[in-house]
Amino acid sequence: MKKRATLLTLVFILVFSLPGSGCGKDTSEVISVESPYEDVNWDTWMQLKCNMHTHTTESDGIDDPDDVIAAYNDLGYTVLALTDHDLGVVYNPDTTWPWSRWGKDPQTLGMIGIEGNELTKFHKHHFVSLYSDYASTGSTDEGDWLNDIQELDGLAYICHPYWHVDCDIPLYPLDKGLAWYEEILSTYPSLLGIEVYNGGSRSESRYDTDYNLELWDDILVDLLDERQVWGFASDDLHEPNDINKGYCVLLVDQVSDEKVREAIVEGRFYFSHRYIDGPPCPQISSININEESGTITIEATDYDGIKWISGGVEVGEGEIFQYGGNQDVNGYVRMMLSNGTSSTGTQAIKIK
Ligand SMILES: [Zn+2]
Ligand SMILES: [Zn+2]
Repeated sequence: MKKRATLLTLVFILVFSLPGSGCGKDTSEVISVESPYEDVNWDTWMQLKCNMHTHTTESDGIDDPDDVIAAYNDLGYTVLALTDHDLGVVYNPDTTWPWSRWGKDPQTLGMIGIEGNELTKFHKHHFVSLYSDYASTGSTDEGDWLNDIQELDGLAYICHPYWHVDCDIPLYPLDKGLAWYEEILSTYPSLLGIEVYNGGSRSESRYDTDYNLELWDDILVDLLDERQVWGFASDDLHEPNDINKGYCVLLVDQVSDEKVREAIVEGRFYFSHRYIDGPPCPQISSININEESGTITIEATDYDGIKWISGGVEVGEGEIFQYGGNQDVNGYVRMMLSNGTSSTGTQAIKIK
C-alpha cells in the first residue's frame, strides 16, 4: 500500500511538471538556440558593406554602370550587385555583367561583384536574382522564374513586398497575401528572404517598412521550424541621391567570392537603413548568447535604443535580453537598433 502511494505521488509530480500542464513554462527545460551569427568571431571577422539591388542605364537608372560602381567604391562598399530590370523589350535583356564591359575590375577595386538582375516582367512580383545570368523568359509565372534560377545555382530574394499591396505606383496592384509568400519560400530554398527595407521607403512618413517587417514576422512565426528567412535592406538605386540609404553588412573571416556568397546564404549579415543623409546607422560590434544564463547580449555603436522583437511584438529593450523562462518569446527573437534617422536590424535567432 505504501509503495502504491509513492508511485501515485511520482505520477502526480511528473504530470504537473510537464510543459503545457497549466503550471506555466518550466524555466529549467532545455531551450535550443540557433543563431546565424554563432560562428562569427566578432573580434577578428570583417564587416563588409553590401548593396544587392542597383539599377543603371542598362535599365531605368540614370547613371552608367561604371559611375555606379565608382560611387559605391568611393563610399567604402565591398560587395555590389548591379541588378538591372529584365524587361527585355524596353530594357537590356542581359545581366549587367561582367563589369569589364564598362572598364571596371572588381579585383583591382578591392570589391566583390555579384552578377544579378531584378525580375520585373509582366507586372508580376519583383525578385532580386543573384549569382546567375538568368535574365528573361516568356513565362509569366514567378514560380518558373524561381525554379530556373535555382537550377542555375543562383539565389534570389523577394523585393519590396509593400509595393505589391497598396502603393501609389499603379503598376503593382497585386495583393499576394501571406500564404503566397510562404508557399514560394517553402518551395524554393534558393529564395533566401525578403527585402524589409528598400530605398523606395526612404521617407520617414511612409509606412512601407512597417508592412514589410510585419510580413517578415508573420512568415518567421509560421516557417521558422522549416527554414530560415533572411531580412535584406537595399538602395534599389535609380539616381545618385538613392545611394547609401539601405544596405547589408556581411560578416566574413576573409574577403572572397566564396565567403561572401556563404555569408548571404547562411544569413551572416545584418541590415541598415536610413531616411536621410546624416549620422551613421547603428553598427553591431557583437552578439553573444550565454546558454547558461539564458541571455543574449548585443554590443553596438551609434544607437539610442534597442528593441527585441518576437512574433511582431516588442518583447524587450536594451543591450541584454533574457530568453530563458521568457513566455513572450514566440519561436525567435530579432533585434532592431535605432537612432532617430536610421535603424539596423538583425536576423532572427531561433529559440525553441
Ligand atoms: Zn522592383
Ligand atoms: Zn529595383
